[in-house]
Amino acid sequence: MASATFESVAPATGEVLGTFPRGDAADVDRAVATAREAFEDWRLVPAPERGNMLFRFAELLRAHKDELTDLMTREMGKVKAEAGGDVQEAIDMSFYMGGEGRRLFGHTTPSELRDKFMMSVRMPVGVVGAITPWNFPIAIPAWKLCPALVCGNTVVLKPAEDTPLLAARFVDLLHQAGVPEGVVQVVNGFGEEAGEALVRHPDVPVITFTGSRETGIAVTKAAADHLKHVHLELGGKNAIIVMDDADLELAVEGIVWSAFGTSGQRCTAASRVIVHEAVYGELQSKLVAAAERLRLGPGWDDETDVGPLINRAALDKVHSYTRVGLDEGAKLLTGGEPVEGAGFFYRPTVFADVSPRMRIAQEEIFGPTTALIPVRSFEEAVAAANSVEYGLSSSIFTRDVNRAFRAMRDLQAGITYVNAGTTGAEVHLPFGGVKATGNGHREAGQAALDVFTEWKSIYVDYSGKLQRAQIDNAERPAPR
Ligand code: NAD
Repeated sequence: MASATFESVAPATGEVLGTFPRGDAADVDRAVATAREAFEDWRLVPAPERGNMLFRFAELLRAHKDELTDLMTREMGKVKAEAGGDVQEAIDMSFYMGGEGRRLFGHTTPSELRDKFMMSVRMPVGVVGAITPWNFPIAIPAWKLCPALVCGNTVVLKPAEDTPLLAARFVDLLHQAGVPEGVVQVVNGFGEEAGEALVRHPDVPVITFTGSRETGIAVTKAAADHLKHVHLELGGKNAIIVMDDADLELAVEGIVWSAFGTSGQRCTAASRVIVHEAVYGELQSKLVAAAERLRLGPGWDDETDVGPLINRAALDKVHSYTRVGLDEGAKLLTGGEPVEGAGFFYRPTVFADVSPRMRIAQEEIFGPTTALIPVRSFEEAVAAANSVEYGLSSSIFTRDVNRAFRAMRDLQAGITYVNAGTTGAEVHLPFGGVKATGNGHREAGQAALDVFTEWKSIYVDYSGKLQRAQIDNAERPAPR
């Protein structure tokens, strides 16, 4: 067991909430060996039985929802309503994937030969290495572990170093639900140590990773030597388009929720707002007034609208982008400074007169900062929205159905919302992005099963003779 430790710190107060072993390569080795051994039994447990454990897990999450919500406001910092939503997403995912235990559908299809049967089935892959961020500390582990487990894989989870308490509770409840201890294990610690050791481990054929683009690239490179399956959910630079015919009150509500909810620390946060010039002035003043009404404070306080950033480094990074924006000539309308005193609070920040090529319009800030970009037409709006390297979420506020459908078709993103902000995914549709947001895989929905299974095609010949496909049934010439 690693002798070094690290602390979990409350971002609203700086209070130390717990001390954890700082896992290293030896800890990863032990966990993987156990998970590998457990796989041989777990893969043979009938999938409906594995699904039943997920139903029990969902019930346990529900029973502990208040406790987990409260802990999340303390360890991660998001406000109560959002923390409850995070836990609810895990409950939903666990019920949904529990149901997969009785589906996990494959295909049957007729053979080209007589007396021959064909089908495809999903097979588990083995030990899954799951590496998760701190911003959805219960939901994201559920997105990964529920499908991995129902498909018959075992898992070693390396949770974010900022939220180890929540990860520990999550895994405790899975064990309580009946999932054997060897089937799911946690190795706490830092990315470059425990995380990288997991990615490089030869007995871990699948890595499912959510985090930043830079780490995603490092993970891909480290996994390449063993040709692993790598599933990446990375950053975003999501835009809301507000057209001249939009319901502006609704648009402002959507922007406030998407830009400042979770203090902007969501992969789907709206850090760009692309606005038609006809409503630019009005939207600016409504948005600034709404941003300035938001109350900052600890997440557990009922009065709080916006909680703290996760840690000091995040606060410094967000503030450095305010300087970048000012240097680039953008106009700071409100915010742009940390709050004095304990905790890592940053004022909701709105920049105006931003051009699409500025760094604050291109780079993921991961804080409560959004950039207003004026445009003259729908075409210019779509071009601006698509001018970033990321492609996770997108949104358009318009009452014109033709424009809405063009946006659904033309926005380069894994998710498009019409007349809603950029956040609000539900667990039964695929979740993920195009371009530098990922590598073509999806979380959630049926699509998640593809990450955690390999297809096997099975041919059963009951003719009693050797039948050669493509040869014994070769097409006969057409009759003259
Ligand atoms: P991060 O990349 O710093 O860390 C994520 C995880 O990777 C942590 O557990 C960390 O310890 C680990 N890690 C770090 N270096 C590693 C390495 N070399 N090898 C293996 N593991 C390593 O990201 P973060 O700051 O925790 O999270 C914020 C980022 O996550 C943002 O970019 C955000 O957009 C993204 N995110 C994406 C989604 C999505 O679904 N697309 C969801 C949430 C967050």
